[in-house]
Amino acid sequence: MTDPNNCIFCMIVDGRAPSFQVSDDELTLAFMDIFPVAPGHSLVITKQHYSNIFEVPPNTLAAVARATRRLALAIRSELRPEGLGLFQLNGVAAGQTVFHYHQHLIPRSSGEDLKLHTRVRGDDDELRATSLRLAEKLATEP
Ligand code: 5GP
Ligand code: ZN
Repeated sequence: MTDPNNCIFCMIVDGRAPSFQVSDDELTLAFMDIFPVAPGHSLVITKQHYSNIFEVPPNTLAAVARATRRLALAIRSELRPEGLGLFQLNGVAAGQTVFHYHQHLIPRSSGEDLKLHTRVRGDDDELRATSLRLAEKLATEP
């Protein structure tokens, strides 16, 4: 397991680092990716530090799946993307860059190249506005 003390997502979970949060439950947290490859690119993470899928207990994985489904529905209804990609990378060879388990939700348009990372930071106002829209939508859902 990688070191939780040095982990940016652990810092987001415990408030040592900021995030544009979208949802929060017992086992998961969702927030906007600050280097979005598309508007609405968001992440669902486990609150506990697990480096990858090989470490996540099944009940926590199920909680990520539930939170991902809820967020996917909110993205569809608020942002109306043509498609939505779910990606989850495990290990350097797979392209993983943050070693704390997370699920990507990436709105997709037809004809667009498949891209999982960018070095271009998102605009804070835009990220905040999108996170608020999605959070408000989720607050109205059971
Ligand atoms: P991975 O490559 O591990 O599947 O994805 C890690 C993701 O975390 C990347 O898409 C990257 O843009 C995002 N990321 C890295 N640092 C931060 C951060 O400090 N805050 C947020 N919200 N996202 C981050
Ligand atoms: Zn962590």
